[in-house]
Amino acid sequence: MRCIRLLDVLLLTAVLTGCSNTGTVFQDRFFALGTLIEVSIYGVDPALATRASAQIEQDLLTMHSNWHAWQPGALSITNEQLATLKPFTPDPAVLPLLQEAGRLSQLSNGLFNPAIGKLIALWGFHDNALPIGSIPDSNAITALVQQAPGVNNVTFTGTQLVNHNPAVSYDLGAFAKGYAIDRTIERLREFGIQNAIVNAGGDLRAIGQHGDRPWRIGIRHPRQKGILASIELAGDASVFTSGDYERFFEVDGKRYHHIIDPRSGWPANKTTSVTVIHDNAAMADAASTALFVAGPDDWIEIARNMHIELVMLIDTDGIIHMTPAMQSRISLEPDTDAEIRLSKPAS
Ligand code: ADP
Ligand code: MG
Repeated sequence: MRCIRLLDVLLLTAVLTGCSNTGTVFQDRFFALGTLIEVSIYGVDPALATRASAQIEQDLLTMHSNWHAWQPGALSITNEQLATLKPFTPDPAVLPLLQEAGRLSQLSNGLFNPAIGKLIALWGFHDNALPIGSIPDSNAITALVQQAPGVNNVTFTGTQLVNHNPAVSYDLGAFAKGYAIDRTIERLREFGIQNAIVNAGGDLRAIGQHGDRPWRIGIRHPRQKGILASIELAGDASVFTSGDYERFFEVDGKRYHHIIDPRSGWPANKTTSVTVIHDNAAMADAASTALFVAGPDDWIEIARNMHIELVMLIDTDGIIHMTPAMQSRISLEPDTDAEIRLSKPAS
């Protein structure tokens, strides 16, 4: 049990800030889902919090191996079965994710597209190390884009799947973290825990509050050290950010990052970061990626389709775009001098 240190603010995209002198926050940290997981639980017996946190660590390790995009596991087996173009019943550990990812992909007009695993691999992002100094052959990119892999190529009949497009391969990198966090919140509730935050490398879901005040979190600045904004969360809210700074490499001074526009096959090039707040973490995760791809001109239309009302998008000129609802929730740091453009409401 301890208060949050300033260092955390610098390390994570979204972090808890501040520390109450009166309340007790149990904190645990461990590595899972390829990132640092920080669990904060308010107001329960530390022994119960310790048990609950140990359980969700186990859960997350299992989910990570089932849903990994390139290491052998239930998802890689599913991708091999999809490649046969024959009907099969996937592992029950992946079926609900494929169904939900398919639904969200349709809502995003295919900008969140979990079927573009082959493109992500072509860009070299299916590796812990990034490809230094090389971009893929543009003909190979075009060939994959022309085959147009998408969730509509896969037909679901009960628990059976059949794929009709050999270019389809699932990569749940834009969605599985959110889905996993939703499962951990369910697990905490089973333990009777009503006030908690599960933070996975800056993407988080918060429930309840911090004693008699809301949870307060910071959103990392995409280009500077420290935070850009902070926000109070009470009740149930997930805050997810997709940024071009998370995984990227540079060639001739140009940044090639890990969020790919499925229409061009190249990294989406008008956005620096998108933060979405929504009660469901899986939706917030998929939507932050979709709105990143949509970019400064089209994000509001996709947000409406996905029923996302709280959005902040920073474009590559540094302009901050927000819905009015987001503006009324968020506190930008006082030294923020960026231009702010308010959209029409998203609903
Ligand atoms: P982060 O991984 O930094 O949280 P995202 O949630 O946006 O960021 O997920 C990015 C990951 O999602 C990529 O590493 C890749 O695996 C996958 N991905 C990239 N572009 C898309 C896309 N357009 N639709 C769906 N998944 C994508
Ligand atoms: Mg995402």
